[in-house]
Amino acid sequence: MPIWRSKSGISEQNKAIETSSNETSDFTPPLGSAENAQRWEEIQRMNWNKLKSTVSVCIACPLSQTRTQTVFGTGDKDADWLFVGEGPGAREDATGEPFVGQAGKLLDQMLAAIGLKREHQVYITNIVKCRPPNNRNPTSNEARQCEPYLTRQIALIKPKLIVALGKVAAQNLLKREDSISSLRGKVHDYSGIPLIVTYHPAYLLRALPEKAKAWKDLCFAQSTMQSLK
Ligand code: URA
Repeated sequence: MPIWRSKSGISEQNKAIETSSNETSDFTPPLGSAENAQRWEEIQRMNWNKLKSTVSVCIACPLSQTRTQTVFGTGDKDADWLFVGEGPGAREDATGEPFVGQAGKLLDQMLAAIGLKREHQVYITNIVKCRPPNNRNPTSNEARQCEPYLTRQIALIKPKLIVALGKVAAQNLLKREDSISSLRGKVHDYSGIPLIVTYHPAYLLRALPEKAKAWKDLCFAQSTMQSLK
């Protein structure tokens, strides 16, 4: 078994927000409001470059105050495979690339185990594009403010299969609160795209015996992909 920017301009904008309001949880129109629906629709009309530049200056949630830079994603924009993690960690916040720390190294080994490589038929991104402080889980508000970006990325990439890495990714993508163990081993549906759930590589680094289960998930993902071709 294999073992497998600076803040350019953002801080000034944020300062203006901070001084004009004591509200720290929502910088955008409230979720569910007409203005927020308009924001969503505008994002769904963006092309890749516009989306990327919009994300890079996003101040929709408080994570924008503490990030070094946004982490949009990496890989092949025409990928068959989309891997979605939780949110950037310290190394990702410093480099602007997803999964470059220890968990990233393990993710690369997991990809290699099923014959995949970053950049080739694989795109990697996260539920939130900014680092949650102290690597805490993103709040539901943070995830929902970032959701239209991921939705648009998925619409532009048109992956054949999505692999949700860990509970936060799975629960946010599927809009379900179920445990990861009950979500594994099934092909779920994300807007018509098959979605498979496995453990987050950072969890696997702490729980070595679970690697066997993740290996099973990857084989399942691989056979599901083959059945789609
Ligand atoms: N963990 C994640 O979920 N995403 C990253 O980009 C890095 C670590």
